[in-house]
Amino acid sequence: MPGNGRPTSLPLTYSPHDRARWRYSERDDEARAAHVEESRIRRRVVRDAMWTPKLTRQVLRLLARIPDPAEALPQLGRTTHELYGRMITEQEFAEQVEAVLAENCRALAAGMCGRPAGYRHYGGRCAACRKAKRGSSASDDGSGSAR
Ligand SMILES: [Zn+2]
Repeated sequence: MPGNGRPTSLPLTYSPHDRARWRYSERDDEARAAHVEESRIRRRVVRDAMWTPKLTRQVLRLLARIPDPAEALPQLGRTTHELYGRMITEQEFAEQVEAVLAENCRALAAGMCGRPAGYRHYGGRCAACRKAKRGSSASDDGSGSAR
């Protein structure tokens, strides 16, 4: 379907032969990997088809108002998996989402953005808050020993 700027099929790493072998119940590593890749690409094609420019605008507007994907996305009937999946494959979209989340981070007002406590206690969901949460230990939640 030329004209929409997106490829309808993606280059495959695994051979059609390996993908076909999976359908004939061969379960070796190559057949399994080919099947997994094919399934992933099928889902991506479906996701790309339903993810319209209008939906992108709606998502960005909503995240500006509700800067927490888990809270915001269900209001559009979407999931965080769809959002983060799209962000993995669409660099420009990912940058737009991260910019909106950073600009409107709920932990900003408390000065806790980018800290583990920003994520845990203030609802910060920007990239800096998510990264701080991942890199934190239980003893480093900012609730004690303020320096
Ligand atoms: Zn933040």
